[in-house]
Amino acid sequence: MIGLKGKNALITGATSGIGQAIAIRLAQEGCNIAINYRKDPEGGAETEEMALQKACQNVENCGVKSLLVQGDVSQESDIVEMVNTVVEEFGSVDILVNNAGIQADSPSHEVTTADFDRVIAVNLRGAYLCARETIKHLLSLNRPGVIINISSVHEIIPRPMYISYSISKGGMENLTKTLALEYASRGIRVNAIAPGATMTPINQDWIDDPEKKAMVESHIPMGRAGSSEEMAAAVAFLASDEAAYITGQTLFIDGGLTLYADFRETWSA
Ligand code: NAP
Repeated sequence: MIGLKGKNALITGATSGIGQAIAIRLAQEGCNIAINYRKDPEGGAETEEMALQKACQNVENCGVKSLLVQGDVSQESDIVEMVNTVVEEFGSVDILVNNAGIQADSPSHEVTTADFDRVIAVNLRGAYLCARETIKHLLSLNRPGVIINISSVHEIIPRPMYISYSISKGGMENLTKTLALEYASRGIRVNAIAPGATMTPINQDWIDDPEKKAMVESHIPMGRAGSSEEMAAAVAFLASDEAAYITGQTLFIDGGLTLYADFRETWSA
């Protein structure tokens, strides 16, 4: 895709699932990639190996640089250090992908304050703080940049039993739009993707259970869950210059999940 070669990208939570696929795809497109991991350096190293292998499929991209950066996005000091490290090593952060995310399930009236805070601190405050540090850096260099938030269909679909997750993704819509509006004139684009059900470790309980999997798929108009690679392809597009005029948007990638599947057939004559 146009405009990705040589760009420096930082991807949070890039040790598995969607984040890993994004790191691999961006390396394949010729980006230098900073792979953030929290507790799983092996996962980070695995991402790095796969990304460099993919990049080398195109000999021109064989020289992409990679960096493993430890950091917990719920910790402000980790984020500051992480962004500084990438700037020191690569010279800039041109693309930030806020991917790190967690969820916790419980009836809403039983959620503990600690659990609530933990999910918001990773999914929403973490994304904001990573964006804040990246924007500060871009403005200091008067450099354009791209921020992509990995939201969810639960940005708009309420999710009972997952109140903190639902709120975090709802908040992400506003985070995306507010930052997009505030920094559009400075050359910083901010967009989001909203995956539907995607085959990643976060969903291992239903992926491994044929009955549960069929139940999940029955709600998806296209009849299947998405892949991490399908999410990564959209991120590559939004990060590229092919999306140069797109900002403040959330792209839903969900096999039609947000199309009100219950209306596939008319309810009444
Ligand atoms: P995943 O495989 O569980 O990956 C989550 C990643 O986030 C892991 O690398 C994890 O690293 C990292 N992470 C968690 N807490 C972190 C923290 N405090 N600091 C830094 N990294 C942290 O999940 P996934 O399905 O790929 O999800 C990625 C994103 O997509 C999330 O934002 C999720 O909400 C969103 N999403 C997923 C789906 C889906 O169906 N899979 C649908 C919609 C949206 P550690 O293991 O080291 O903590």
